[in-house]
Order: sequence, then structure tokens, then C-alpha cells
Amino acid sequence: MDVIAAAVPLRDRVAGARRAGGRVGFVPTMGALHAGHARLIETARRDCDCVVVSIFVNPLQFDRPEDLQRYPRTLQVDLEMCDGLGVDVVFAPAVAEMYPTPTSCTIAVGPVAAHLCGRYRPGHFAGVATVVMKLFQIVQPDRAYFGDKDAQQLAVIRHLVRDFNVPVQIEAVPTVREPDGLALSSRNQRLSPEERRLAPALYRALCEARRRVAEGACDTEPVRRAAAATVPKDERLRLEYLELVEPENMQPVERIEGPVLAAGALWVGSTRLIDNLMCGSPRAQ
Ligand code: AMP
Repeated sequence: MDVIAAAVPLRDRVAGARRAGGRVGFVPTMGALHAGHARLIETARRDCDCVVVSIFVNPLQFDRPEDLQRYPRTLQVDLEMCDGLGVDVVFAPAVAEMYPTPTSCTIAVGPVAAHLCGRYRPGHFAGVATVVMKLFQIVQPDRAYFGDKDAQQLAVIRHLVRDFNVPVQIEAVPTVREPDGLALSSRNQRLSPEERRLAPALYRALCEARRRVAEGACDTEPVRRAAAATVPKDERLRLEYLELVEPENMQPVERIEGPVLAAGALWVGSTRLIDNLMCGSPRAQ
């Protein structure tokens, strides 16, 4: 496995693989890799001849400095995991390599970023779109793999690729969960044992929304309220949002007339967790 820190040699290495006729698969990550990332890498490994993983904690997408500072960094362990999964190339640039001079061009994201996390994390999706566009330019993959876990991010990337005619196929990978439903996340490492016990509350709330939609609920508001009410009253838990949105453009729906995405963000102590579930309505058929 090659570990490359600079954009030019990375592009040369991948161009070599492409010239040899190989399909290039790309998995962008911020490191602190877990079984969710592994699922993305395994999927890319099955589909592609050359698998590139990037590990880069992107300062541009952090709206709170302490979140950036506290973000887990475990590069050596990550590299061992990538090696074990048969990754061909890891791109692990320093911040100065990705943002050498003050950046003057960034990507502005439209209404797809107006709600959910976009509403509560100003500039977050502009930062995500900008780094992913840069990574696409550097790696030039045939396929790129993203988790359903970050559904709004995935929607933003799909819009980005469409709007800028990026020649890459976007592949979505289902969320990997702990046995109690908690979605795997690098931020779970920060939870104390007591917080970890409380953390599945978000998944349970989303399951309640899904159950009500599957039973034929028509109006969003009662579903939202019932789902939010399942979150235990505990001073360590604060539900930031729980919304039902239309899955392609991430716009809130008032009436449920087709499949909707239930998405939420829950603060558990000082850690912010997000999750989502697709909800199928019996009236969609
Ligand atoms: P991150 O390192 O958190 O930026 O995530 C990198 C990629 O892994 C993103 O496409 C995420 O959606 C995906 N991912 C993170 N957690 C999970 C999970 N539990 N299951 C599946 N994919 C995930």
C-alpha cells in the first residue's frame, strides 16, 4: 500500500493505475476509521481495481474550533486497517498541502444545505463540497463511496457532481450500526460509558418516526413530536433537530405522500451525533 501526502504524486500514482485499464474507486474519510468506513472500503474493493482512501480532517467544514481540535486522529491505526482491507493508496495530506495559500474560491451550496445540519452548522456543507471537489480533482476517481449515515452530505455531493459535471459515479453505502442501533461514528469515541448508554436514543426516536410513517401517518408534525418524545428526559441529552424531509433535495415535508427521510441530531453531553432512517409510507405505492 502506498501512503502519499502530496497531490501531484498521488495523481501520478492513480493515473498509472488508470492507464493500466483499472477502475479507480475512492473513499474520502476524516480518519479515526471504524467498521462503517471499512464497509465503504470493502464495497470499493469489490467494485474497483485501484482503491484510494483519503484521510484528511478538513478544517473548512468545522463550524466550532473545539470540535476540530477534539476530532480523533489515529493515523497509524488507520493505515494498518487500510492495509488489512487491501487498499492500494492512502492519500493523507497535511492542511498546508490541501490549502496552500488562503483559499479564494470555495463552493457555495444551495437549498439542499438549508435545513437539518446545514441550518445548525453554518458553512459546514460549503466546506464539505469544497474539499470533496478538490479531492475529486486530485484523485479523479471513476467511482466514489459515501455513507447513508451522512444523508445530507450525500445529497450535497450528488448535487455537486450534477451541477459541475464531475465525471464520477457516486455510490451510497448503508449505515453500519452497533447492536443497540447506534450508528458507528468517529465521534462515538468521545462518549463516556454513561453517555454511550444514552446515545441510542436518537436511533430509537428515528425508529418511532419510521414506525408511524409505515402505519400511514399523513401529517409530519405529530410524527415529529412523537419521535422527539421518546428521547429520555436527561440533562445530558438535547435533541437539536428531528425532521422529516424529502430525500433528494432535503426539504422539509408537511404532508407525507411518499418516502421521507427522518433525520436528527442529538447532543449527548458535549458530543453531537447525527443519524437518519428512510421511512416508507403505505400510501407511496
Ligand atoms: P467521516 O470520516 O466521518 O467523514 O466519514 C467518511 C465516510 O464514511 C462518509 O461517507 C460517511 O458517511 C461514512 N460513514 C461514517 N460512518 C458510517 C457508518 N456508521 N456506516 C456507513 N458509513 C459511514
